[in-house]
Amino acid sequence: MKIFIANWKLHPLKFKDASALCAKISGIKTKNKVVLCPPLPYLPLLKTKFELGAQNISAEKEGAFTGEVSAAMLKQFKVKYAIIGHSERRELGETDFEINKKIAQALENKIVPVLCVGFGIQKDEAEEEVLGHLKRQLQEDLQGIDPKKVLVAYEPVWAIGTGKPATPEHAERVAMFIRIQFKVSKILYGGSSNAENFREFLERQIDGLLVGGASLDPKQFGEMIQSK
Ligand code: PEP
Repeated sequence: MKIFIANWKLHPLKFKDASALCAKISGIKTKNKVVLCPPLPYLPLLKTKFELGAQNISAEKEGAFTGEVSAAMLKQFKVKYAIIGHSERRELGETDFEINKKIAQALENKIVPVLCVGFGIQKDEAEEEVLGHLKRQLQEDLQGIDPKKVLVAYEPVWAIGTGKPATPEHAERVAMFIRIQFKVSKILYGGSSNAENFREFLERQIDGLLVGGASLDPKQFGEMIQSK
């Protein structure tokens, strides 16, 4: 069984389109684990047999934090997963300290954290340097956290939304590094995976995929989640 997490980001613009996309994906039979992470307002409204996830959660539980939504709140709307530390949020200034607090909030509320780690703005970044950055990120993000309760998604920043995925060999080497160094049990790959290239990743020691763009195309995502 592989894990497929659909990160819809800030799409689709209209709820009726989100609902239609959700219905199409939900009609697909699969033995794999599928998690849909739509924009926040759609979360309580979508009907699906698959699990739901949030794209972000607050590092705080409750209080004077305007605009934030806590794990305890999301939990009441059948949210089982939360993407945490996505590079698009790190770019907005999210720190590893906050990410660590978010993971703790998720776990306290029995939400599975999907911790995103990644580094590099160019494809030819030296692997050793990448591993050094990942090690530092993971040490801070997982401080005081049981790594077995966390899903980690390795997402090279240069591969996200660019149509240029990492090589499956590189993704597997990094996954092995994270597995061995941090005792994380499930590692996903994310970054321009699609219906054309996904098999090459899943043939490797990679437990699943975090899918952005291709998850908005039910035909393409449907093909991916049906893989055996
Ligand atoms: C992502 O946003 O996590 C992602 C992997 O996006 P894409 O598949 O579009 O590269």
